[in-house]
Amino acid sequence: MKIEENVSLRDLTTMNTGGKAKYFCRVCTIPELKEALDFVHKHSLPYFIIGGGSNLVFSDKGFSGLVIKMEIKSVVFKDKGGHVFVTAGAGVVWDDLVEETVERGLYGLENLSLIPGTVGAASVQNIGAYGTEVEEVIEQVEVLDIVTQKIKIFSHNECLFEYRKSFFKKEGKGKYIVVRVVFKLLKKSDVRLSYGSLKKVFDEKGISSPTPREIREAIIVVRKEKLPYDGDIGSAGSYFKNPIVSQDHYTKLLSMYPEMPGFSVSKSEVKIPAGWLIDNVCGLRGSRDGNVGTYEHQALVLVNYGNATTEEIKKFAEKIVACVKEKTNISLEREVEYVE
Ligand SMILES: Cc1cc2nc3c(=O)[nH]c(=O)nc-3n(C[C@H](O)[C@H](O)[C@H](O)COP(=O)(O)OP(=O)(O)OC[C@H]3O[C@@H](n4cnc5c(N)ncnc54)[C@H](O)[C@@H]3O)c2cc1C
Repeated sequence: MKIEENVSLRDLTTMNTGGKAKYFCRVCTIPELKEALDFVHKHSLPYFIIGGGSNLVFSDKGFSGLVIKMEIKSVVFKDKGGHVFVTAGAGVVWDDLVEETVERGLYGLENLSLIPGTVGAASVQNIGAYGTEVEEVIEQVEVLDIVTQKIKIFSHNECLFEYRKSFFKKEGKGKYIVVRVVFKLLKKSDVRLSYGSLKKVFDEKGISSPTPREIREAIIVVRKEKLPYDGDIGSAGSYFKNPIVSQDHYTKLLSMYPEMPGFSVSKSEVKIPAGWLIDNVCGLRGSRDGNVGTYEHQALVLVNYGNATTEEIKKFAEKIVACVKEKTNISLEREVEYVE
């Protein structure tokens, strides 16, 4: 394993901003990961684990310790009755795994097609899209315990999955590094078509039970229409979480904005799409300040048109937060993680 110095973080993140990592390494095996941790302990340095860098924004000042890029890559399929258990290394590119499972005709990951990043982060973040969250098919997560340097297995329940969160992003952050994830996939049809735009695609085609391949292809088309997959534009996906407000608050807002969508999450709470607020309440979809803007097809996505700094991104994000707060009294929270 090679430790490099002064490596640009722009090239390691999909937002393409940030300064330099004082030290950087790629780890392809568990012994290499331990070696990287020994280096930080020996030199009393901070460290930060990255996968594809698709949910992160590093400071323009860079990172003063070791950035460790997970590249543990191996995928093993085990057939057991009606299921196939897939054990994938944390550094496997998420969408490569989805493609491989779809190619084998397995059900479970197809709705999560084309989400950037790695397998390890997918479990940490509990990624979700088109009516599915990855936790629904996670059997267990294998981690390296930073203190004991031993492998520990977390069952599905021990991972404490929530909306875009898991134990590894909360209490477990800084204590464990995900090295492998085991997925339990189905050989027989188990399609999830509840999500509006996906259902419409198959209703129009008259297909009630599409194959994983058909679902993957439909999702790829829809995602490419809505999100910036063009390498020239930097982004970190949805910049803000969808806010949850009280039913009373929502009712008041409806009197001002009768078209405002809302989805009940409990008897007294409603989730509102943040992209709708930025677009329809603030009129900021496709707006641009210099190198930074909101994506023309999805206001929830902040984009870097080329040479933006992290400071410029943050300022633009603050402008959005202030507008939404002023007009709706909703405080948007970030989904993207800032690393100082
Ligand atoms: C165009 C675009 C579209 C997107 N669409 C979606 C979407 O539909 N749904 C969705 O949920 N997300 C979406 N995202 C966000 C992003 O793809 C996910 O959050 C993804 O899981 C991040 O993976 P990564 O490997 O890039 O993680 P990184 O950004 O590198 O890291 C994210 C966090 O996970 C931690 N981490 C990474 N690997 C490990 C590990 N092995 N062990 C412990 N901690 C680790 C990091 O320290 C960091 O805290 C999108 C992003 C983009 C750019």
